[in-house]
Amino acid sequence: MSVIIPTSVSESDSTPRSMPRSPANKVNFFDLPRAGLDAFFADLGEKSFRSTQVLKWIHHFAVDEFDAMTNISRSLREQLNSLAYINTPEVVEHQVSRDGTQKWLIRLDNNNCVETVFIPEAGRGTLCVSSQIGCALNCSFCATGKQGFNRNLSVSEIIAQLWVANRELGRDPKGERIISNIVMMGMGEPLLNFENVVKAMDIMTDDFAYNISKRRITLSTAGVVPAMDRLKEQGDVCLAVSLHAPNDTLRNELVPLNNKYPIAQLLDACSRFVEGKPKGRDLVTFEYILLEGVNDSIKQAHQLARLLRRVPSKINLIPFNPFPGSPYHRPRQQRIDQFRDVLTKAGYVTITRKPRGDDIDAACGQLAGKVLDKTKRRLSQVSYVQQSSVQKMGVHGNKPCNA
Ligand code: SF4
Repeated sequence: MSVIIPTSVSESDSTPRSMPRSPANKVNFFDLPRAGLDAFFADLGEKSFRSTQVLKWIHHFAVDEFDAMTNISRSLREQLNSLAYINTPEVVEHQVSRDGTQKWLIRLDNNNCVETVFIPEAGRGTLCVSSQIGCALNCSFCATGKQGFNRNLSVSEIIAQLWVANRELGRDPKGERIISNIVMMGMGEPLLNFENVVKAMDIMTDDFAYNISKRRITLSTAGVVPAMDRLKEQGDVCLAVSLHAPNDTLRNELVPLNNKYPIAQLLDACSRFVEGKPKGRDLVTFEYILLEGVNDSIKQAHQLARLLRRVPSKINLIPFNPFPGSPYHRPRQQRIDQFRDVLTKAGYVTITRKPRGDDIDAACGQLAGKVLDKTKRRLSQVSYVQQSSVQKMGVHGNKPCNA
């Protein structure tokens, strides 16, 4: 088969373009984690507590106008209006599934929209966040991959998804935020947009923004090995890996990135990632989409069980969610259960994900958004680790997730 993996995502591809209504020469506060705001206010001769005030207004109270920030002096508000702005996103569509799943389609520019999905479950609410417009990795079972790749999302475009969902969902009667967990499993491979994803996660975890624990943030990758090591140093969230096959021959077909980073390298990187982590964060979640007659045999279940012995693991089985034009089918329930039983008997915590939001095309592998494809996918162009500030690395269009 022709190997189709990311075009080299050049630095210019990764530079965020202006969202609509972006005023020229102004700083978008949506793009700045606390360190960036500290630097901004230091330049104005202001103390760093201004950063925490502004973070709280924007992310905690969903305020998008400086004039509404009543604990900031009028003169500073005027200065902020002249130097900065808060670029709130336009919601093009909001859908609610009969099972309570919600999906927002958010406009990013004139040609591209991105989808974010909220999945309510007992005791938690998970938001599935996208990191790229489309995806260049072209996994054969994924609707996002079929759309091609346009560009990376900026920090503000990643965080806008959480901002919108948090504003709409609010808090429960006890005052707890409805969104308790984040999974970076929407459109795109988060590790191919490393710098922006890590900065966005800084905002997610900041006490004065969303205050979400790193234990409750899971980043899912198709396996961009060099970036996984960097993530441990800089992001330190929970890791999920889109595996989907128990051997290289099949994984090369399903996840073309495997041609670059085969399973042995991937599992070594997983072991390094969890080494020394405290209990509760010392497991890697392996995601395995079950495709009828492709990767769902009992023999393959045993192969998978043997393969994962070397990494502290838990396994999420995801029965395939069909989308138009896909050649695959979801296995029968009996086969899904048999596959799960092999893994459970081998000692793995194994969860079969229930399809959520499939009536609004929000289930795993169904995210499509609206993407102007600019991809020229050629393996020869792939270069994941470059000397640019934006490292080229890592998956998704899958989704939540009991990770
Ligand atoms: S599964 Fe993930 S990495 Fe693969 S094409 Fe879809 S979005 Fe990209």
